[in-house]
This record gives sequence, C-alpha cells and structure tokens, in this order.
Amino acid sequence: MKKWESHCKKCGLCCHEKVIVNNTLIIDLDCYCEHYDIKTKTCKIYATRFIDSVRCKKVTLSKAMFAPYLPPTCGYVEWAKLKHIRFSSIRMLRLIHSKQPPSDDDENSIYQYF
Ligand code: SF4
Ligand code: SF4
Repeated sequence: MKKWESHCKKCGLCCHEKVIVNNTLIIDLDCYCEHYDIKTKTCKIYATRFIDSVRCKKVTLSKAMFAPYLPPTCGYVEWAKLKHIRFSSIRMLRLIHSKQPPSDDDENSIYQYF
C-alpha cells in the first residue's frame, strides 16, 4: 500500500475543482476541497479522508489507467504511462484562476501532453 501511495507527488491538483472540455482538462487553482490546505498543499484530514469526506476518492490502479480527470502530471498517471497502461485520451491541461481577472500569463498555463 505504501509503495502504491509513493507514486503520489503531493501536488494537490486532484483536490481542486476540475472540468473536461473537449480534450482539455481544466483545473481551477482557486477552488478546492474544503479539507485542502492551500498553504501546505496537503490534506488536513489525510488519515481519515475516505471516512470524513464523501467526495474524496482513492486513486486506484483502475483510476491511474482510465480516469480522465487526473492531470497528466499526476504521479500515478506518469507511472501508468511508463507501464503503457494509461488509456485516457485527455491531451491538454489548463490551470486557471477563476477568482482572478485574466492576465497575459494565462497562456503560460496551457500545457500539451501526448
Ligand atoms: S479530502 Fe481528499 S480531495 Fe479533500 S483535500 Fe483531502 S485528499 Fe484532497
Ligand atoms: S494529482 Fe496525483 S500526484 Fe497530485 S496529489 Fe493527486 S494523486 Fe497525488
């Protein structure tokens, strides 16, 4: 179990609100789970997250293989890609700030993955 969880890079991106539009996964850096600590980028209830949060879902082997809402930068996804068992068709990742006005830097938050 510990070995599997060691794939997590603790980036916290899966704890944010997200939506898939066409082939782009859009993650909102300003909206996240109520248990997420934005300063430390960690879960405040990590040990009991599957009990105390109805929305929190464990990243299983199946999710590493198929879940389109996991970012391509996710450690589990990268592991699945290395094993040639990643089958989600998402190609792009866009990080947005919904609570800030758009800026010229927004273009820098679009990444492409193959
Ligand atoms: S409960 Fe789950 S989704 Fe919420 S911060 Fe913790 S790990 Fe992330
Ligand atoms: S996106 Fe993946 S690597 Fe990042 S915190 Fe979530 S499970 Fe861990």
